[in-house]
Amino acid sequence: MKKILCVLCVLCGVQLASALDRQAFTFTDYDLKIKVTPEAQSLEAQGKLTLRNDTAQPQRNPVLQISSTLEWNSITVAGKAVQYLVHTYTSDIDHSGGLSEAIVTLPQPVPPQGTVEIEITYSGKVPQDNTRLTRIGVPAQRAAHSDWDHISESFTGMRGVGFVAWYPIATDAASLSEGNQVFDAVRAWQQRQSRSRMRLFMCWPGEGQLVANDHPKGVPAASLGGTTRGQRTACRGLEYDPVGMVVPTFVIGPYRALNQPPMAIQYIAGHESYARNWATAGEKAAPFIAQWFGQRQRPVQLVELPDKDMYPFEGGSVFFTPLVSGDEKDIQVVLAHQLAHASFQSPRLWMDEGLAHFAQALEREQQEGRKAALAYMDERLPPLQEAEKGFLPAGKASDPPPRGQPLVSATDEVFFRTKAMFVWWMLRDMVGDDALERALRAYRPDQDKEPSYFQRLLAEQFHRDLEWFFDDWVYRDRGLPDFQVTAVYPRKLIPEDWSVTVAVENSGSAGAEVPVVVRAAQGEERKRLEVRAHEKAVVRIPIPAVPQQAVVNDGSVPESDMNNNAAEIKTPESPK
Ligand SMILES: [Zn+2]
Repeated sequence: MKKILCVLCVLCGVQLASALDRQAFTFTDYDLKIKVTPEAQSLEAQGKLTLRNDTAQPQRNPVLQISSTLEWNSITVAGKAVQYLVHTYTSDIDHSGGLSEAIVTLPQPVPPQGTVEIEITYSGKVPQDNTRLTRIGVPAQRAAHSDWDHISESFTGMRGVGFVAWYPIATDAASLSEGNQVFDAVRAWQQRQSRSRMRLFMCWPGEGQLVANDHPKGVPAASLGGTTRGQRTACRGLEYDPVGMVVPTFVIGPYRALNQPPMAIQYIAGHESYARNWATAGEKAAPFIAQWFGQRQRPVQLVELPDKDMYPFEGGSVFFTPLVSGDEKDIQVVLAHQLAHASFQSPRLWMDEGLAHFAQALEREQQEGRKAALAYMDERLPPLQEAEKGFLPAGKASDPPPRGQPLVSATDEVFFRTKAMFVWWMLRDMVGDDALERALRAYRPDQDKEPSYFQRLLAEQFHRDLEWFFDDWVYRDRGLPDFQVTAVYPRKLIPEDWSVTVAVENSGSAGAEVPVVVRAAQGEERKRLEVRAHEKAVVRIPIPAVPQQAVVNDGSVPESDMNNNAAEIKTPESPK
């Protein structure tokens, strides 16, 4: 009998779960005291949540989710126990691939726009867990480098929503095997709670320091103030006011601070020489990046991750990264990204992240020239080619279905990072450094209310039609172009001088202005050519030597196929 009851209970739980609106409530306030015990790999939390009903109907069943390795201990409202049903909710939004979901039944329904305060306690272990990655086939080692969050004696590192639900959330199930579902679920959660306030009082035993990416009103992140130490326990208040689009993240370990403008580095004791290398690299790269992106509005804040293989993480204005010793140039390229963020912010991902990646390519160019920058970008091209594969304009069937996203609203990293980086580079090649720098300087995030805002700023600096370009690359996803040299006509002028007419066809659905290069035994000449989607164009290039080869695209325009871009030139002078 007991068994049957249990089955029934599970069934009704499932039924209730499927009828739930997990988005009904917004978590407007968190007030939690969290005790982390590294030697037990565990945490204990207690405190209060304020939830607001953001639907048009009264709501009675808020949902509270924490990582599946944590347990609910109590849930009360106004000091009185309330009914709640706990089950494991499968979702890749947590590293463990599941959430301990409490479905609460409130004594009274909450009216639309009404709020309810819920007191909670929960606890449990947070070991490193790579379930969500290994079950979709990611090799264990790589999975561990990616999902590094855990509590342990030597190091504790915990990222919030999207990694470990160490504070309560409420999200719909998301699967890593369903394209971009997890990223979209995280983003939707963040957008919904972006104006929420989170106050945490963190306590931990031992000598370690706690470093976090919190941002109390008006105070820059990663501040170390407010630590109080008892005999064996240290405590520190954290405030995210508002949370914004930041993933609340903290680490505990033997951290030391190195402040060397523009860098503010938290490094692990014993790694001071690494920290100094990074600080020096940042100092050197800073003037060039500021010239492009303007004065820095904050320092570049780095927090060291202890294992050199851990994947870096951008937690708002704080960059969590291993600080391995490395080539200074490579470190400068990494830091160019963070320096750009410290100067330039935009609510649009393709601008915010795309420009930071563009800054890295610029830094590479500054170090070793255009070729090195193009090689740097080319390394990042294959995933973009893959994402744009089989892409056809809306309305036409394609197989497999396109992953395409208009850049302006893209949430897939390959678009708002990689594609955006190429788009900024192409724009820069088209309008020149001065015009682009001036347009970026004129940019005001709070005035960016419509997709065409930046195009208008650029039009004030550069008086040529760019509508077609923004249409093909930013406002819509039309895939990538595919250029081919269809004909070459060399003509001898005076003894040493030649003129080569090159015909180029673009069989893709996105147009671009692309370099055409004519090569000779010694040297080359190039011109830029605008080739719109599904069109042909012709360019005449003079060269003071016997031309041997014509090539379209030097790698600055991302293309679906780069293998059909060159044509040999036959002249009577060509070697037989
Ligand atoms: Zn970034």
